[in-house]
Order: sequence, then C-alpha cells, then structure tokens
Amino acid sequence: MEQETTEPAKRIKLSATSECYANAILTDEYMQELPRAVVYLSELENKRQISCVMQELSKMLPMEKMGLQHLKRVRQQDIILCKVNDLSGQSIREYLATVGLSENTILILCKNLREQEVPSTAPLLRWQYENAQKYWPCKFHPDKYIESLHSGSIFNEKDRTFHTKITEILFEISSKLEENKPCGICIDPRNNAIVAAASSRITISPVMHCPMVLVDYVARTQGGGAWQKELTQEFGNLDGNSDKEMEENSILSGIPTSYLELLRNDKRFTDVQIGAEPIRCKTTVEEMVQNQQSSNMDNLAKYGPYLCTGYDLYLSQEPCLMCAMALVHSRARRVYFLNRSSNGALVTRLKLHSVKELNHHYEVFECKKHDCSNNTNCS
Ligand SMILES: [Zn+2]
Repeated sequence: MEQETTEPAKRIKLSATSECYANAILTDEYMQELPRAVVYLSELENKRQISCVMQELSKMLPMEKMGLQHLKRVRQQDIILCKVNDLSGQSIREYLATVGLSENTILILCKNLREQEVPSTAPLLRWQYENAQKYWPCKFHPDKYIESLHSGSIFNEKDRTFHTKITEILFEISSKLEENKPCGICIDPRNNAIVAAASSRITISPVMHCPMVLVDYVARTQGGGAWQKELTQEFGNLDGNSDKEMEENSILSGIPTSYLELLRNDKRFTDVQIGAEPIRCKTTVEEMVQNQQSSNMDNLAKYGPYLCTGYDLYLSQEPCLMCAMALVHSRARRVYFLNRSSNGALVTRLKLHSVKELNHHYEVFECKKHDCSNNTNCS
C-alpha cells in the first residue's frame, strides 16, 4: 500500500467570498452512458399485424427472458424480436422456429428485418433516460434521491453555508496549527456538532494518516481509541473534578486542545457546536427498546454513536485506500473531501464506494469552491 506523500499538503485556497459546493461522486453506473445491444427488428406492414404477432412473441420470446424488460417492445410498426447475439450461429428464421413461433408468424416477422442498437440496461437517471430514448423507447422509474445527488439539489443554501464553514475551519487548523498537513473533521449531522478533529501524524507512525487519526479520536469520545499512548500530548487533562466536568471532558475528548482554543477564540466559529453525544448507559437503551420508543429510530438515534455510524467526515485530502477502507469499517455516513490525492481511493485511483461486495457504503462528495469574485458576467 502506498504511503501518503510527506510533502506538505496543497494549500487550500479559501476566501471570504468563496462558497463551497459539494458534488456527489456517484458510482460509474450513474455517470456513464447505458451499454447497448443489437437486436433484430421487424417492420410490420400495418399496425393490425402487431396484435397478431404479439401474443406469440410475448409468450415464446418475452422481453424479460432477454433482459430487455426496460424497453418498450413496439415503436410504431417496428417490433423487437430478439438480441442478435442470442442466435448462436442459427439464422433468424431457424431461431424463431426453435423458440416455438408458428410458421405463419415467422413469415410475417421475417418480411422486413433489420438490426438496431438499443440500450441493454435500464436507465437510472433522467439524463440516461433522455439519451436512451434516442435509440429506443424506454421505461423509466426515477429515483428522486439519487437524482438530487446528481443535480446537487440535495443541499440547500444552509447546507452550503455549513460546508463552507467547516472547510474554513479545516483551513485554519491546517495552516495555523498543522503546517499545512492534511486535516479532517468529524461531524454529527443531527446537530451539526464537531465530534472530533485531527491531522496527519505520519511523523509518529507511517499508518497515522489523517483519517486514521480522526477515526481514533472519534473512538475516544466513545471510551475507546487505540493510540491513547502515542497521541497524548495534544490533549489536556481530561479528568474532571466533578461528574459534570468529567462528562464535559469526555464529549470533547476527540478534539485536541489547541483546536478547541482556535474554535473558541475565532469569532467566525463561535456559532459552531462542539462535542460528541455523551456515552449512553446500557440501561437507557434497554428501557427505550422496551418502551418501544425506538421503532421509528435509526441505529444512531437508538444506540448512540458506534464509531462513525451516522457521522459525516470532512477531509482536506481525498483518502487513500487504507483510509477509505478504515472509513468503511467505521461506518461513516458521508465523506467530503477538498483536494484530490494522487493515491486517492474515492475518485482518483478507484471509487471504493462502488465496490458492491463491501458490507457498508458511504456517500462521497468533492467540495469545490464557487468564487463569487470570479464573475464572468459583464455588468
Ligand atoms: Zn491515507
């Protein structure tokens, strides 16, 4: 596995006028034109013949059997017979006889044959549907959510303001406290609170890439964390004198002291919530389950956080394969990144979130700056 480069991270250019636009990195099936297959078409002499041949065709050669159920069978007087590849050496007449069509129907169908390219899979997004229609009429069942990911309408003005603020915090931490090293922030999207923040520590260990450290800091807020010994100096004394102080300290245990100071002292960030949800005791969860309060709740609401379940991560750099996998294991909900990495595993080298065999999938967004001062309009 490749290590993250030790060169200083690219400086994240941000200005007060730039707003952050998060573009979803969708898997290839949503981004590519639909694959096509060649079919035999029969042009009938008149529309009355359609109902004659249809009965036999839909029984002996149903579109489902050919995997073409997403297509309409008929366009005006043209009717789809079968895929050219399905013939396996036979002539079309022989093939139609083999599948059991009557001689009379075969005669009608073979009078005026031609080949035609059609989409071989169903359209998933509207743009694919519109494109597919140029080849052959298609059926389409739009998925509103994926459509909103593709168009960007999933985020409103308020979301964009929040994304912008988090990228500003990343920039401040990276440039003021971490010598432009890759940085990351974990957010609880239920209240937009900062759960943890971290930076690359590859000077301590080669596996301490920023996302690995970030996941470890998230684990600290849940009483875990594998690198307590290696990474102590960034945190102040977390023991409190009272129970209240102990709880206060534990919910802040994922954020290094210097970052906390920066967040508290910079006027731009004082409205950002800080701290993880307190660890719940087991009995509270059991009571909720017993009282059936939980039937409509997701796992995050029900059991509280387990590693990054339900959490969103904002990273200055696209994660490498090791880190992208760590984010799968820790069950992140969304991963936002600012800069592409040469060893990136979410868009540059591969799209890890498109590997269907993985047992968890997060959504991926690339944050781009929309700089209002770069206006191209003449006014
Ligand atoms: Zn990495």
